[in-house]
Amino acid sequence: MSQKFAAVKGMNDLFAPRIETWQYLERTARELFSTWGYSEIRTPIVEDTALFVRSVGEVTDIVSKEMYTFDDKGGRSITMRPENTAPAVRAYIENGFAQQPVTRWYYLGPMFRYERMKTGRYRQFYQLGAEAYGPADASQDAENIALAWSYLKAIGVPHVKLHLNSLGDAGDRPKYLEALKAHFAPHVATFSEASKETFERNTMRLLDTKEEALKPLVDSAPSIGDFIGDAARAHFEEVKALLTAMGIPFTLDPRLVRGLDYYTRTTFEFIYEPEGENSLGTAGTVCGGGRYDNLVKELGGPDKPAVGFAMGLDRLEILLDALGKRQERRPLLFIATMDGELKVAAIKLVTDLRNQGLAVDFDPRGGKIKRQVERASAVKARHFVVYGQAEHETRSFKIKNMDLPDSDPNKEVTVPLDGLAGWLLNVSKAAPVTTTP
Ligand code: ATP
Ligand code: MG
Repeated sequence: MSQKFAAVKGMNDLFAPRIETWQYLERTARELFSTWGYSEIRTPIVEDTALFVRSVGEVTDIVSKEMYTFDDKGGRSITMRPENTAPAVRAYIENGFAQQPVTRWYYLGPMFRYERMKTGRYRQFYQLGAEAYGPADASQDAENIALAWSYLKAIGVPHVKLHLNSLGDAGDRPKYLEALKAHFAPHVATFSEASKETFERNTMRLLDTKEEALKPLVDSAPSIGDFIGDAARAHFEEVKALLTAMGIPFTLDPRLVRGLDYYTRTTFEFIYEPEGENSLGTAGTVCGGGRYDNLVKELGGPDKPAVGFAMGLDRLEILLDALGKRQERRPLLFIATMDGELKVAAIKLVTDLRNQGLAVDFDPRGGKIKRQVERASAVKARHFVVYGQAEHETRSFKIKNMDLPDSDPNKEVTVPLDGLAGWLLNVSKAAPVTTTP
């Protein structure tokens, strides 16, 4: 008896045509991030559970309810990474990078959180992140933010707003928490069970509650900005001045606290906020990041400050798709084949052209030309040619542009065999990757 299977809930198969946009996002990231002096780090998918408990924090949503944690066959508790900052810090310490004055890394890969799913919120999702270790200087914060900004510009996502806040230093936190608790305490009896728990376990998280009923109370809550010390305040002023100098607009958002415990000083998010309605709700938050000056030390390393961000690639892909900016890679030329020896010559030509880096396709089934035209349309080939007896003998091809109507005078061009590769190269240079209208 055969058995059918489905992918695990919240985990997606990715394939064409949408995979082309994924690859575009990844390709653009690799190029841009390395230009900015960030090199790639790849860490394992699983880590010691304790690494995340210690760094992300016991009372966070991630650790308290979202982790894929299990015992391996050796009885060790391991966790599929819910984020990549802690693994990168672990690798940074373990491999002696903390000896270097500056280390800049980017990563790109799947993360796992057992979440309530909706559009843009999955259980296996992909993050692109960038971390800079070493410099405590505000210019490092600004550079890291500018990298995220430049990437969002490069991929062509409009209407993303930078939300900015400072959480001050770890020492500033207790005073603020006290004030926050005092603010919420008289109302706790009216809270939902979930919010009561958040109040008890991680009061600051109430600030980014999604419960409408709580919003007025959140709006009137004390701002962390009134509680941060002079050093953190001066640092924040400098970050803002640098962003302004770089021409990066931002909105101050005193409620921006971020969900992970390790953040200090600068925190930021990039949110897709178009004019009018069509926002993506919570899926509109495409990037989150900030400084985490104590994490390296807390994980057993030396006293090294750091700053970084993580972007949700799933959400960026959804956005580009919704904006009609889906990437597509189309064959430059589809060669229809005849039976017999001509087919051998045609396949040899296809192979030669492919070996020169040109995207050329054919239908191994051969058959009626009409069917091969249909196949060429199905794979969205840009041009079509029949490799027939005449073409074989005259070494000359009548190439049809599949995007033009039959009535267009440029519909058909004649290209000699020995000029074919060069002609295709020019076509591909003119539009290497096309975007659906
Ligand atoms: P949210 O408030 O949306 O749950 P978060 O604070 O948990 O976000 P981070 O841990 O800061 O998110 O992750 C950085 C980015 O990764 C988010 O801004 C988002 O774009 C993306 N991301 C986080 N969780 C998911 C998920 N479950 N599915 C898809 N993308 C996600
Ligand atoms: Mg979350």
